Amino acid sequence: MQQPDPVEILKLNRIVVYSVIGLFLVLITIYALFIYGKTGQYQDFEDYIFGTYIRIKIASKVNPEKIAKAIFTEMRRLEEKYDPYREGSVLYNLNHSEDWVQVDDETLALVDLSLKLAKQTEGAFDPALGRLIDLWGFSKYSQRSESEFKVPEPREIKEAILLSGYQKITVDYLKKSVKTNGAWLDFGGMLKGYALKRAYQIAKEYDKNCHGFIEAGGQIMILGPKFGRANWIVGIRNPRGNTYDSISYVYLKEGSIATSGDYERYFEIDGVRYHHILDPQTGLPSRGAISVSVVSEDPILADALSTAGFVLGKDRWLYTRTLFPKLGAEVLLITPEMKILKTDNFSIYENPDR
Ligand code: ADP
Ligand code: MG
Repeated sequence: MQQPDPVEILKLNRIVVYSVIGLFLVLITIYALFIYGKTGQYQDFEDYIFGTYIRIKIASKVNPEKIAKAIFTEMRRLEEKYDPYREGSVLYNLNHSEDWVQVDDETLALVDLSLKLAKQTEGAFDPALGRLIDLWGFSKYSQRSESEFKVPEPREIKEAILLSGYQKITVDYLKKSVKTNGAWLDFGGMLKGYALKRAYQIAKEYDKNCHGFIEAGGQIMILGPKFGRANWIVGIRNPRGNTYDSISYVYLKEGSIATSGDYERYFEIDGVRYHHILDPQTGLPSRGAISVSVVSEDPILADALSTAGFVLGKDRWLYTRTLFPKLGAEVLLITPEMKILKTDNFSIYENPDR
């Protein structure tokens, strides 16, 4: 019998080894492409909640549709629970009770946070302006046509101011109870921020590696960098231009940016614009700014402080400029004369190479 040639055996072994390695590499590539296909592609979802469009752009190895659905469900829950003008909602019951009302933990935490934000901004952000907001007709803004709006009488405004204000709200932490003492709570200036915080938590519970962003009205919450590494570019709208006309851009991999503008919800009578952000002191639409954008890690802070910065306006800019960065927020304010004011570190976010 002829002995096999050892050189031939070696060659044969090498072919087998190379084939196995080759096959392995092909399998790895297919697997990587499969995973990329699942995580690297963005899917878009949209719904109408809080009287505005909510857009979710998300890439995830977990079913993105499931995540988006869970987020929309949560947002709708919050919309119903905290609509102060819907009979039976938690805020409605609080506002229409003359006595202490026991509340759940979430509500207690939100009331507490809203009062803290009011104190921090010296009342520029005031969660107890419900009566004034209702008087101006912004409580059911999307259900009203422009001709239904009217400017309230000075007497009516005065009366509503007397019955409003965060100082009226009392909290009993031991009994988990809140008393509104005639004022009406309205979380409109921070609820979208809270909903975005919840949305972020939900998305990360499903998949901590998901990325993308959520847009709710004038606010954006980043879920993770674009394609897992790059900045998202967010335009700050020219308040006197169209939707796609930006006066600046910010570059974000995380955190949130909220903009409060006088162009979102307003009506016009005799050429005067009356919008939905009210100065708690005068009871009138605030006139010291036409747009305020706030960048912060925390979406609730971004939301509430964009409203507060708007009320503080250009006259109290020095206060905003000094205080807000200490709270963890950078601000860009546009005055009615279209002058742009920025806190010292805002430009960090305007740098594309950050
Ligand atoms: P948007 O809801 O358009 O993003 P904001 O975040 O600035 O705008 O919130 C405005 C809403 O906040 C109003 O519709 C009203 O419900 C409420 N609001 C109005 N004025 C104030 C204020 N001074 N402080 C707190 N909330 C306010
Ligand atoms: Mg706000």
